[in-house]
Amino acid sequence: MRRSGYGLCPIGPREQLTSATYAPSVPIRVLLVEDETDIVSPLVRTLEREDYAVDQAVSGRAALAAVTRAGPDVVILDLGLPDLDGLEVCRTLRASGYEGAVLILSGRSAELDRVVGLDAGADDYLAKPFGVAELLARLRAVLRRTSGRAPAAGGRRLEVDRDAHRVQVDGTEVALTGKEFEVLALLADHRGKVVSRAQLMSEVWSEGWYGSTKTLDVTMGRLRQKLELAGPTDRIVTVRGVGFRLEG
Ligand code: CA
Repeated sequence: MRRSGYGLCPIGPREQLTSATYAPSVPIRVLLVEDETDIVSPLVRTLEREDYAVDQAVSGRAALAAVTRAGPDVVILDLGLPDLDGLEVCRTLRASGYEGAVLILSGRSAELDRVVGLDAGADDYLAKPFGVAELLARLRAVLRRTSGRAPAAGGRRLEVDRDAHRVQVDGTEVALTGKEFEVLALLADHRGKVVSRAQLMSEVWSEGWYGSTKTLDVTMGRLRQKLELAGPTDRIVTVRGVGFRLEG
């Protein structure tokens, strides 16, 4: 059977990381964003020795791409980067919905910089030069504080496969009725954009369907309930007076 992979997100590195470690649990994924190689190499060795799965980026743009791709649990972010300012990277991450931890590294240790860093959405701030033991302690602290948040980007994502007529969350199938599937698939086709009630009615039910849209609301309610139980990062948002939008 042909599988177009429609609506599937790229598979993250989680599986490779899991098999590469002897620990039974999934390792905590760290993205280290730093352009100075003499800081990077010893830091990576230290983190890996502590069983963190480490990904690296040497510029702000590479960092943003890596977060989208890998969805790290924590980003260790240097402020002095060759392209974007680290604070700008941090603000962009938060604006795009990244909810993992951010630990900023900086040579700028003045108190004002510290406040600006936290305002930009960082969870903690470590001034250079720092000791490895202090970094590890701060890292554990921010992870403890942020572990109750929603999964990081790239976490429990919804996959809608039209060809297989199947919906999965993090590899687990969500059983939907035909109409529920059609509604969700249409929203997924227009992910991030509003789909009007009229469009849902005409495409999922029948053309020239002029009756009450109560059926749509009932279907939407059941669909949301099922998705809520499956717990993806995606959610269906009601846009008052217009329609619905799939976000995440
Ligand atoms: Ca730097």
